[in-house]
Amino acid sequence: AKEKGGDTFEFYHPDMNFRSLERLHLETHLRKALSRDQIRVHYQPLVDLESGNIFGMEALVRWEHPELGLVSPGEFIPLAEETGVIVPIGNWVLREACMQNKRWHDMGYDLCVSVNISMQQFQHPEFVATIQETLAETGLDPAWLALEITESVAMKNVSFVMETIEELKRIGVFISIDDFGTGYSSLSYLKRFRVHTLKIDRSFIRDVTTDEDNAAIVTALIAMSQQMKMRSLAEGVETTEQLIFLKERGCNEVQGYIYSKPLPADEFQKLLDKTPMP
Ligand code: C2E
Ligand code: CA
Ligand code: CA
Ligand code: CA
Repeated sequence: AKEKGGDTFEFYHPDMNFRSLERLHLETHLRKALSRDQIRVHYQPLVDLESGNIFGMEALVRWEHPELGLVSPGEFIPLAEETGVIVPIGNWVLREACMQNKRWHDMGYDLCVSVNISMQQFQHPEFVATIQETLAETGLDPAWLALEITESVAMKNVSFVMETIEELKRIGVFISIDDFGTGYSSLSYLKRFRVHTLKIDRSFIRDVTTDEDNAAIVTALIAMSQQMKMRSLAEGVETTEQLIFLKERGCNEVQGYIYSKPLPADEFQKLLDKTPMP
């Protein structure tokens, strides 16, 4: 364990608890992760419930740490957001995802790549310009890019968010509201933002077939999406029972382990070449 400690010893001070030690260690390394080529993008299929076809994929960041192995975004995204390092990392993920999707389009796959955008990125004055540059430089058609914005982001500065979303829509990219139902939700904002897709959070889907409240919420969200001319996507679908529940209520799209976990690009491509999904 001592040899493994490496540079953590340099930072050690008796006042520091393990968590702050870990934080410092992670932060220092995270800043270098990009230049050291340790950031990866995995892809999870997005499936059209009616046809059963994969129509796109969500790009999910991974950090391949030399000692810690594959670090999940849940562990480093919050820290990356606090320190601002999410902006270069997020922009890198965006570019990588667009580049990869362009490659797939050149190979004949018609896929839409969905990229997570953090509040820091979205509020950056150069954000719209970055999107345009990335599309121009990678040659990806804007219609094959979707941006996932979380509710909490969207709700902070309403007029700024509305303006930015309108600009993005003019460019021709798609907008999804991510983790819907978990943020400081205000249904009235949905009307003003006019997004394309509403992603229903996994926490509602998990017990949707056993918990009456969750069943009612999911049913209502799907119905609302339909009436507002939005697509509905259910996150974290793991069982056939959940799939049937969603299909019966007219949910448009699903994502979850029932189809596949997020995969590296080469494995995702193998999945595309397989026969239609269940
Ligand atoms: P998210 O945007 O809600 O992404 C979906 C998460 O749910 C992913 O976790 C995915 O692996 C997981 N998931 C999908 N289907 C299932 C399922 O059937 N069962 C279970 N148990 N989990 C499922 P992941 O990849 O660990 O990402 C966690 C979060 O980190 C994401 O949640 C997103 O908020 C954030 N994140 C990931 N990549 C990026 C990124 O490039 N930029 C930003 N800003 N955030 C990112
Ligand atoms: Ca997401
Ligand atoms: Ca989500
Ligand atoms: Ca979620």
